[in-house]
Amino acid sequence: MDDIRSISTNLNLPEDTFISQYLEKSEDEYLIAKKPCPFLKDNLCSIYGVRPEDCRSYPHLWKQGFQTRLIHVVENSHYPCMNFNVSSQ
Ligand code: SF4
Repeated sequence: MDDIRSISTNLNLPEDTFISQYLEKSEDEYLIAKKPCPFLKDNLCSIYGVRPEDCRSYPHLWKQGFQTRLIHVVENSHYPCMNFNVSSQ
């Protein structure tokens, strides 16, 4: 919920409006509902300073089971914002 609060504040949107416009509920978490990510503008993250924790920690090398998630890392590698994260960690 910290991510929702930070991003909705940054976008100057009420949290419930931000959720209904950009997110979908998956099990116990919210995910960005659309692909490509609506915050990717001109190959840059337009909310970089408040990007979600999952984006900040990508490719989640600290989590267990990296080998089983490797295909998703490759799938997401076309996102320039993710490539920046990979190269900066
Ligand atoms: S880092 Fe990429 S995937 Fe994450 S919010 Fe920004 S544009 Fe979207």
